[in-house]
Amino acid sequence: MDDLALLVDLHREGARQGPGGDAETRLAIALSGLRSGRNLKIADIGCGTGASARILARDLDATVAAVDFLPEFLAELDAAAVREGLGDRIETLEASMDALPFDDASLDAIWSEGAIYNMGFAAGIRAWRRFLKPGGVLAVSELTWLTRERPDELTAHWMQEYPQVDVASAKIALLEENGYTPAGYFALPRTCWLDNYYRPIQARFGRFLARHAHSDAAAAIVAAEEAEIALYERNAAFVSYGFYVARKTGD
Ligand code: SAM
Repeated sequence: MDDLALLVDLHREGARQGPGGDAETRLAIALSGLRSGRNLKIADIGCGTGASARILARDLDATVAAVDFLPEFLAELDAAAVREGLGDRIETLEASMDALPFDDASLDAIWSEGAIYNMGFAAGIRAWRRFLKPGGVLAVSELTWLTRERPDELTAHWMQEYPQVDVASAKIALLEENGYTPAGYFALPRTCWLDNYYRPIQARFGRFLARHAHSDAAAAIVAAEEAEIALYERNAAFVSYGFYVARKTGD
């Protein structure tokens, strides 16, 4: 099994595949001004197994196009949507976020939690803007420095992994420079990383290693995850995901 297949196997049972929380998804909905009962069409990009897609469909009574390039995650989402009576409101789409199959000006909102980094924040907000209706909502969470100064080990790690990591004011400026009007920002609290994401992953390590007969590749994935978790625990005051909510500025 290659590394991607191993990562899918580790993460597919998770409620979320990145830091986040249901309360934080709902806070972003509140900041967006989106309201139920308006036949909203929303795309959730890099949806994973669909924690946010299901909240959007349920709370806003919206039609949600849930996009991911990993069919294994979409299968989990399809099953959960049916279980929760949301099967007719969520359509899963296997597609890459840099080649989305939507018409111009067709979406009331684009949602993306912990995924836009795969394209890069700047490229993502530029590429996705055309799919929004005038005044449509962009809501994305993105790795963000919480302070101007921070420990060298943290800066070195994330500059290597994701050189676009920056402070919130820089991300908000990028939104303004690319045709969006900022509507709200907040940083995810530590519970979104620890209780909702890292602790559940750690609880799955034992079964994951057993499933793969403690192979070198599986052990290397666990070691890399543990190192990232320890780095976060030492530096939680300095880094988080920022949740950015903005509106497409009028054409
Ligand atoms: N939004 C989910 C959540 O918060 O739980 C998943 C976040 S996970 C950190 C990032 C997701 O982006 C994964 O589900 C991954 O499969 C997806 N992804 C990565 N690159 C992608 C691409 N080029 N196109 C579409 N999805 C992609």
